Amino acid sequence: MTFVELNKLTKRYGAMTAVNGVDLAIEKGTLVCLLGPSGCGKTTTLRLVAGFIKPSDGQIRVGGRVMSSASGSEPPEARNMSMIFQSYALWPHMTVAENVAYGLKLRKLGKAEIETRTNRILQATKLANLAARYPSELSGGQQQRVSLARALVVEPETLLLDEPLSNLDANLREEMRFEIRRLHDEFRYTTVYVTHDQTEAMTAANLIVVMKQGNIEQAGSPEDIYERPRSEFVAQFIGGSNIFRGKRVGDRSVDCGGLILDCGSGEFEGNDEVAVSVRHHDMHLTAEKPAGDPNNWATGKVARQVYLGSHRDYLISLPSGETVRAIAPVSVAIPENQQVWLHCPPDRCRALVH
Ligand code: ADP
Ligand code: MG
Repeated sequence: MTFVELNKLTKRYGAMTAVNGVDLAIEKGTLVCLLGPSGCGKTTTLRLVAGFIKPSDGQIRVGGRVMSSASGSEPPEARNMSMIFQSYALWPHMTVAENVAYGLKLRKLGKAEIETRTNRILQATKLANLAARYPSELSGGQQQRVSLARALVVEPETLLLDEPLSNLDANLREEMRFEIRRLHDEFRYTTVYVTHDQTEAMTAANLIVVMKQGNIEQAGSPEDIYERPRSEFVAQFIGGSNIFRGKRVGDRSVDCGGLILDCGSGEFEGNDEVAVSVRHHDMHLTAEKPAGDPNNWATGKVARQVYLGSHRDYLISLPSGETVRAIAPVSVAIPENQQVWLHCPPDRCRALVH
């Protein structure tokens, strides 16, 4: 059942269109990530959903009720939503327990109920033993937990998160990604999670919505987005891909300046100009000239090779002057400046929409 629905949602600031006619249906109880580079309109979309800003055009419905439209908007407090910002904005003069209980006090609940609900959420967010501390006595990760606890204690139907982990160091970020997903599964609210980090999105989301310049570029499950990108933008932004541009020469073949790529998947759309993506780790490197079918084989020189423990990261210069990247097992050790051959397996070559 669709719970949060965006119809032609648009926000303009003067001549600048921050969100450009976005259509999106979010099922109740799912976790949706808005993913995209800085400036693509993620925060603006989230603030529109929260009701902090009004749309220039289009509508937002929640549970079938119109919450925002160009003609009027329900205030944030009437939406049963909680939003968590990049900065945790905790009250410095209140303990953890007081910070968490604050939203319930505002709602004028009874003392016993405030205590029960606060304790329950402190347990769920693993903060019970820190209840009497002040924010200045907590680590960044613990402060982030308090801001989560404070958002969840009011039992919102919808939780909105704007880059919630960007102030944490790498290890904590990884732990908190799983934590956010766990809490989501425990409390079953509908979550909209904004991030520019693809690993965060892939760990947490049921549905990833990739945004570019105020538009939705592609929406799908993490596997859809990774395995079946539709455009160059998605193929490069998620997971990293080499892009070869060329002309269609056969049913599923593309001539990229003499390199013929037979493509196992993708969309040709009757277009003669085609881009083909191949993931960095799907390029197979060898130091010996291959025999047999020359299709899907490129040659070049090793421009850079870095040993990274679990793999080697290569940059290869092609005769065309282009550079491609390849991730190879540690056992494939070819020195810089040496000629190499690169295989792009047809089932890993994907034709993209321009
Ligand atoms: P993101 O969160 O994806 O980084 P934002 O939604 O914050 O992007 O911004 C989208 C675009 O809208 C950006 O180009 C930004 O500069 C512009 N923008 C956002 N808020 C305003 C504002 N209040 N006034 C003018 N332009 C804005
Ligand atoms: Mg933002």
